[in-house]
Amino acid sequence: MTEVIDGNAVAADIRDGLTDAIERLADAGSRPGLATVLMSDDAASETYVSMKQRDCEEVGITSHHVEIPPDAPAAELFDTVADLNEEADVNGILVQMPVPDHVDKRRVLRAIDPAKDVDGFHPENVGRMVAGNARFKPCTPHGIQKLLERHEVATEGAEAVVVGRSDIVGKPMANLLIQKAPLGNATTTVCHSRTEDLAAHTREADILVAAAGVPEMIDGSMIKPGATVIDVGINRVDADTGKGYELIGDVEYESAAEQADAITPVPGGVGPMTRAMLLYNTVKAAGEQAGVAVDLP
Ligand code: NAD
Repeated sequence: MTEVIDGNAVAADIRDGLTDAIERLADAGSRPGLATVLMSDDAASETYVSMKQRDCEEVGITSHHVEIPPDAPAAELFDTVADLNEEADVNGILVQMPVPDHVDKRRVLRAIDPAKDVDGFHPENVGRMVAGNARFKPCTPHGIQKLLERHEVATEGAEAVVVGRSDIVGKPMANLLIQKAPLGNATTTVCHSRTEDLAAHTREADILVAAAGVPEMIDGSMIKPGATVIDVGINRVDADTGKGYELIGDVEYESAAEQADAITPVPGGVGPMTRAMLLYNTVKAAGEQAGVAVDLP
């Protein structure tokens, strides 16, 4: 029987596990706070930000929100980030990507105080993660590690294949998997758009992480029997639903599930974990900034 890895259930458990720490911090006068900054009128970005605000409210994290018109000068965004860096009740800062073309994205990542960089994308935090001393692990790969942990998937010595090399998913995922640390120690291959024979690699994977953003590009014939398959893809495709679209993954679920021992669905797999780990990083940041030791789930 293929095990369906239920991201909603694990994410709910992580959120539950955070509430004690949040109340402990609140009692100490340091209720965690997350600031979201939106400089876009893209509907998907607006939805992501409002979901993050709602997630915060549900667990007792104070949410702060700043909206900047997309045609405003870049300085307005940098001034906002500088102000938030100084705000004592803002422990985490998240600038929703993408920012408009006239704003230097890399400069935005560098502008956030690394101690408040709950996405984990500031070069200092990327460097710390690579060096095996992570402060904030990026939310999606961190959430995947938690899924593997909760489902007792052994990474040590496993052949792991990551499809995709983005800065937010593929690269940090591969990096965490090779760390000499719990939930690491995997022999890890990274495939990408220039990989010659993708299937030859994916068929070797005990753990396959698909993060290419190509709908259903990985089918059962590309999966090693008994593998654990983590589908990161969220692809919006036209469909005869009320909304006119549906969300599908990078993995063709039915044929993949026939081969895999365990598999994440889309939706309801990695997505909820990404959201939960943002809350986790915000609570971690708040604890460190307040100098209060908190237990994290
Ligand atoms: P991206 O577009 O930045 O990167 C995609 C990567 O896939 C690239 O490195 C590219 O080299 C590789 N790739 C593209 N086509 C390929 C192919 N045919 N064969 C092999 N490799 C190929 O995307 P991203 O931001 O890393 O996101 C990937 C997917 O994951 C998207 O569908 C995105 O929506 C989704 N996503 C989901 C979550 C979540 O929480 N579930 C979080 C982030 C991203």
